Amino acid sequence: MAARVIDGKAFAATVRGKVAEHVAQLKAQGITPGLAVVLVGADPASEVYVRSKGKQTVEAGMHSVEKRLPATASEDEVLSIIEALNGDPDVHGILVQLPLPGHLDESRILATVDPAKDVDGFHISNAGLLATGQKAMVPCTPLGSLMLLRDLHGDLTGMEAVVIGRSNIVGKPMAQLLLRDNCTVTIAHSRTRDLPAVVRRADIVVAAVGRAGMVSGDWLKPGSTVIDVGITRIPTESGKDRIVGDCDYASCAEVAGAITPVPGGVGPMTIACLLANTLTACCRANGLPEPE
Ligand code: NDP
Repeated sequence: MAARVIDGKAFAATVRGKVAEHVAQLKAQGITPGLAVVLVGADPASEVYVRSKGKQTVEAGMHSVEKRLPATASEDEVLSIIEALNGDPDVHGILVQLPLPGHLDESRILATVDPAKDVDGFHISNAGLLATGQKAMVPCTPLGSLMLLRDLHGDLTGMEAVVIGRSNIVGKPMAQLLLRDNCTVTIAHSRTRDLPAVVRRADIVVAAVGRAGMVSGDWLKPGSTVIDVGITRIPTESGKDRIVGDCDYASCAEVAGAITPVPGGVGPMTIACLLANTLTACCRANGLPEPE
């Protein structure tokens, strides 16, 4: 039987709608949530993301700030922009678009963002809060993936989850979130022995690797849920890139119970969660109840 297709695009629209409603209520009290995006250099994919983030921020009724610096910007220039945003009361969320040009120290720059405004959840204090089960800013892609899983399954307690990938921005926080929801979690990576056998135990597979079509249907336990985070751009003859995930969709959709498509699965949830995190940061900054 063909897998149910998890419509991340539609779910993300619902999340954005709820955020917009809450923003309208805050604005009626004279509070406007603000999100600032810092872009250093002109990486074409980053340009697309930043434009899309700015557009969706405004559509949600929020105040959008874009700080653009040339690829040659010094670390001090970037740090002073972040410090100014940290001190700006109209800005509740700050996002530094990655990747940064190679001469900049990414960890130092991310560590300069005020953890309360760190809507990407990349600051080490937010990573530590999440790992110790405390209230944190949670990275957007894993948060969006968890929302899709909760929507599908309700309670995830006791489920076997395998996360492929152990990056600080996707794999590790994803594993923490699944653990917090009482899954039995395995984190696989490039040194994992017999990955297909590990994946075959999973009720939930989250693939966050960046290798097109790596996970094939015969790796899956029948009926499992597949969350495909991977994004690989494949050039086509038309000149427009085709975007594919880490899972071989055709074979996985034959075995899985439910699967996210690429595009239209996890991707749209990332920006929706960014807006949700900005709203949360704004509520916290103003001592107001947080959105659910
Ligand atoms: P990283 O490159 O930081 O991490 C990739 C991980 O995959 C590493 O832990 C690596 O293992 C593991 N890996 C590499 N090769 C294999 C292999 N053959 N078998 C098993 N594991 C392997 O990537 P990110 O976490 O930043 O991103 C992962 C993917 O998700 C990318 O395609 C990225 O574009 C996409 N992405 C999508 C987002 C969205 O909004 N949908 C947002 C963020 C990322 P090791 O640690 O051993 O090297």
